[in-house]
Amino acid sequence: MDSCIFCDILSGKIPSTPIYQDDTIYAFADIHPKAPVHILIIPRQHVSSVMDVQTQDLKIFSALHGAAQKIAREKGLDRDGFRLVINNGTNAGQAVHHLHLHLMGGRKLNWPPG
Ligand code: AMP
Ligand code: ZN
Repeated sequence: MDSCIFCDILSGKIPSTPIYQDDTIYAFADIHPKAPVHILIIPRQHVSSVMDVQTQDLKIFSALHGAAQKIAREKGLDRDGFRLVINNGTNAGQAVHHLHLHLMGGRKLNWPPG
């Protein structure tokens, strides 16, 4: 596998601001926040994109969304709403090829995102 900045974050080689963690998930602050709350939720297991999650690993999706639910509640976003986004592949502008769920909130979010 080529080097992966999110694997480097998981190993501590690259610093991050932790928000939530458990056995399978790590969540940290996005370095270039696009909203007052902008958190990245990633599996500890390296998976490049949505399409690379194997059938036996589909529980990753449930873990990502379960963590999002906990964090949204913890940050008080459940009242006014928030957005969950996964950019997948070139047309979506996926820049980091380690699956990640963006959790964004704290302001009115435009739709469609563009
Ligand atoms: P995407 O375009 O969906 O691949 O999003 C990648 C996200 O990773 C962007 O929102 C970046 O701001 C964020 N990002 C890149 N490097 C870091 C880092 N070292 N720490 C935290 N967030 C990062
Ligand atoms: Zn990785």
